[in-house]
Amino acid sequence: MRRMNFTDTQVATSETARGINRGIVLNLIRRRQPISRADLARVSGLQRSTVSLITEQLIREKWVIYGPTGRLPRGRRPTFLRLNDKRAILVVDLRPEITTFAVSDVNGRFLSQQGIPTPSSPDAATDRFAKKIVEMVEGHPGLIFEGIGISVPGRFDESRQRVVFAPNLKWPEFDLRGPLEKATGIPVELENAANACVLAEVWFGHAEKTRDMAVITISEGLGVGIFSDGRLVRGAKGMAGEFGHVPLDLEGPRCSCGGRGCWEVYASNRAALRYYHESSATANGPSFQDLLSLGESGDSLALKALDRMAHAIGRGTRMVVAGIAPEEIVFVGEFTRMWKRLAPVIEAEVAASALVGSPPRVRPAAAEPSDARLGGSVALVLQRHFGPSAAGEGRHKLVSSRRAEAIVQ
Ligand SMILES: [Zn+2]
Repeated sequence: MRRMNFTDTQVATSETARGINRGIVLNLIRRRQPISRADLARVSGLQRSTVSLITEQLIREKWVIYGPTGRLPRGRRPTFLRLNDKRAILVVDLRPEITTFAVSDVNGRFLSQQGIPTPSSPDAATDRFAKKIVEMVEGHPGLIFEGIGISVPGRFDESRQRVVFAPNLKWPEFDLRGPLEKATGIPVELENAANACVLAEVWFGHAEKTRDMAVITISEGLGVGIFSDGRLVRGAKGMAGEFGHVPLDLEGPRCSCGGRGCWEVYASNRAALRYYHESSATANGPSFQDLLSLGESGDSLALKALDRMAHAIGRGTRMVVAGIAPEEIVFVGEFTRMWKRLAPVIEAEVAASALVGSPPRVRPAAAEPSDARLGGSVALVLQRHFGPSAAGEGRHKLVSSRRAEAIVQ
């Protein structure tokens, strides 16, 4: 059955219809490659002639190439199509201490990856990042770079093209996109890390059946990305999802945002380290990775600190459940290494938060935390081309790939 999203299609011009069809075809190739034109027509419900026109264009643009030739029992040998894995994306995961650069192909496979210490100011970062990007692009001369995707520990205000809220980075408002596009000559897409992780879940197929989802990223800080009714929610100034800075205790510890007792100061990696220091009285404590290793080896103080963190994660997640009613909540963060131990604490809080019916499903991201954020940066670039209305709308409009699927299912 065809489910149409009327807000998308009621103003459809022939150009947006072409864009929608192109997105449908490109996504079907991505998900089912290698696939023949006949199967593309059958699965999409589009006319054979429309599929041929679109695939010819995609082949001319080098998005799609001929795959292996199939064999049928009798006679004809259909030609299969697949994505051109020589098309690449340069991705960046900007975090307060380390910034990771990676080269990914269009299927989200990472070809190389490098980390550098994060510079202390936006200006220094622009110079350093531009050099690193150019170096990595030059290191892969056989690839066609489609764009640069950057996930940031802050919120991106599209109307002003600035990262406006990055308390853990301690940088003032900044524009990374303009200067990096100028320095590298490659288009840049930039987004909050939690939002990027939403796109990764949607894009790489782990959330195919979910139209209402929250992704909670927990690292130095805590961010929430909201996918509601099949769309990424950005809100005014890109600030939707800042549950991490809702104060739970006005007398609580000071938060990086300037407030006190925010959810983040109880549930982040930094909170777990604080809990550990309070009970172990060590001056030079471990890193969060060390704390996890201690926990895995059965260290009781480390486990106590991590359990407190999990309780705080679960408690705050109740706000997310009440606020946006997700079907599924996905966690991204190093703490998911100990998911088996920590999940029951979080699940119990989430179960208690259901006011009607069963509580939302809770799970860790399908990818490792660092890969989940990088995957989000890949999705940022790809969704510009693969989103069904990519050809007909402004470049910054976030379009989920699932909309294409929703239309053809
Ligand atoms: Zn705060």
